[in-house]
Amino acid sequence: MTSYETEQARLTVRRQRDGTYDVFDGAGVRVSEGHGERLLAERALDKIARRNSRTVRECLTCDDTFLSEGPHNRMCNCCRRRARDGAWLASASVTGTRPSGGVS
Ligand SMILES: [Zn+2]
Repeated sequence: MTSYETEQARLTVRRQRDGTYDVFDGAGVRVSEGHGERLLAERALDKIARRNSRTVRECLTCDDTFLSEGPHNRMCNCCRRRARDGAWLASASVTGTRPSGGVS
């Protein structure tokens, strides 16, 4: 179990007496502003969970430390950009097309 999953599981959306939806952490502390709709509160919960999961990690490629966005994020921005450029060049030479989008 990673800390990311733990943090996310602990956050909950609750309806307040005034009809707004707020995000609470595992200790019952309100961690968001009031939201008029549950969907908006759930989006806020996702954002908070992502922010909470950010931690300093060592880059898989160059061993530099960087601020990771979560368990999926194991390379520093520098190496990620290099890997993406490499993948871009490789796929461009194989398929002859320019891939749109890209890897985050
Ligand atoms: Zn790196």
